[in-house]
Amino acid sequence: MENECLFCRIVAGEKPAEIVYRDETVVIFNDINPHAPVHLLIVPTKHIRGVNDLEEADRGIIDAMFFRARDMAKKFGVDRSGYRLSVNVERGAGQVVFHLHLHLTGGWR
Ligand code: 5GP
Ligand code: ZN
Repeated sequence: MENECLFCRIVAGEKPAEIVYRDETVVIFNDINPHAPVHLLIVPTKHIRGVNDLEEADRGIIDAMFFRARDMAKKFGVDRSGYRLSVNVERGAGQVVFHLHLHLTGGWR
């Protein structure tokens, strides 16, 4: 847990969020500024700064992020209509929260 990290604070329950799923590996909550009718953030409970900071031992976390993203797409009814999974890596690509996360967006008409 990094004290200054927004997503670590959400994971720890110190900052409120609309959490839709959690287990020991990932926490999933609504994005506060949604860019689509469904906009979830899939966040590992472990603090990892971003994709460039992944270690081989983190493979299980990546695995869990994708499988739980798939489950949430189904739960939110966008699995068949279509959804996007995206990761911003470093500032130039738009990363503003330096705790690894997957965006799940969908639900466009
Ligand atoms: P990034 O640009 O780093 O890939 O994405 C960060 C995302 O976190 C943004 O879409 C932003 O709206 C979201 N976000 C930032 N602060 C908060 C917050 O306090 N709560 C929630 N639920 N989402 C946040
Ligand atoms: Zn963190």
